Amino acid sequence: MQSKINLAERVKQIKPSPTLAVNAKAKALKAAGANILNFSVGEPDFDTPDHVREAGKAAIDAGFTRYTAVPGTPELREAIAARFAEDHGWNYSPEQIQVSCGGKHGLYNMAQALFGPGDEVLILAPYWVSYPDIIQLAGATPVIVPLSEEKNFDLEYEVLADYVTERTRGIIINSPSNPTGSVFSREALAAIGKLALENNWAIITDDIYDTITYVDGKLPHILDVDPALAAQTLVLNGVSKSFAMTGWRIGYTAGPQHVISAMNKIQSQSTSNPSSVAQMAALAAVSGPQDFPAVMRQAFEPRLDYILEALAGIEGVSCVKPSGAFYVFPNVAAYYGRSFKGKKIQGSLDMADYLLDESKIAVVPGIAFGADPFIRFSFATSMEVIRDGMNRFKEALGRLE
Ligand code: PMP
Ligand code: GLU
Repeated sequence: MQSKINLAERVKQIKPSPTLAVNAKAKALKAAGANILNFSVGEPDFDTPDHVREAGKAAIDAGFTRYTAVPGTPELREAIAARFAEDHGWNYSPEQIQVSCGGKHGLYNMAQALFGPGDEVLILAPYWVSYPDIIQLAGATPVIVPLSEEKNFDLEYEVLADYVTERTRGIIINSPSNPTGSVFSREALAAIGKLALENNWAIITDDIYDTITYVDGKLPHILDVDPALAAQTLVLNGVSKSFAMTGWRIGYTAGPQHVISAMNKIQSQSTSNPSSVAQMAALAAVSGPQDFPAVMRQAFEPRLDYILEALAGIEGVSCVKPSGAFYVFPNVAAYYGRSFKGKKIQGSLDMADYLLDESKIAVVPGIAFGADPFIRFSFATSMEVIRDGMNRFKEALGRLE
């Protein structure tokens, strides 16, 4: 059926999430019988821990199936506040916390509450795929600040300062980063903090990977660099990655009261509360034993070591060692300009297509993260898949002429 109904202008400006799109394609090919090795989507290859699943089941059995308070149950918000206090020494009241339908939804609520037409928001590239689109959906303009591989994707004050205008209203930081796994140094965070204080920016810090790290000790955090920044910082976290709960859709934000209240107003007029059952499961995750992320880390670390060694053995490929998350982001630009069966690989999109078509490995093209020289592999998959995948990858690059 052909329909002539017009679409709103805003939807024409955005793209579907590329990570979810590549994953859907890989899954469809697999379902059709292709021997696909899927390195695309970023979600832990672990089941949600038993005690968390039990809490979800108990919530259903107890009939905890009605609307809850819009920003999440008081118990869950209290538990989240207690977790922030215990893990970081931060002092948030439950009223300063919003529970949303996943971390992505928290970012959406924040952008809607904070930014509008004419506002510029700084996004550091390589960035997570959804940041620019979420900013655009708010009518604001994403301004992309490039980070360099040579500096381990850390940020320098001079580089950032170049992109600041009178219209800059905020910045999004993500450490450990999806897709690079890099973490910002204290100096970089201090530079961001200085500019933010001087110009009254909102800082959005996406900490969703902060429990999955491969370095000793606590990661530098913008709020530890200067606690005064709490008055203009929104902290995003959630249980998707730390408790392997991607499908439950629970994320949370802590921040200044008036911003959280504005986000609650938006949530009350859009999704209402996140799923009551998922909130009870998240309560068990946030307030129960905290050893699960370490279990995942122990599984991820040998995989990371293996991949880094395999990549180091491929001529022309470089890769910054990730400090956290479960991605590697190798630079494959040395192979751009080469061809297979007469078809030239012009950039990361061609490279990802070539790898999927010819070698049946699904990766996400770097251009989706604002960094075309790279491709992203998620190593939240089995060692067996990783071994085969790295072999296929090396062979595939070797076939390019
Ligand atoms: N931020 C980053 C950097 C992510 O990689 C993800 C994963 N999708 C999210 C936020 C959102 O996570 P979710 O919506 O699944 O809680
Ligand atoms: N954050 C994950 C990824 O980057 C999940 C996909 C998504 O939400 O876009 O693959």
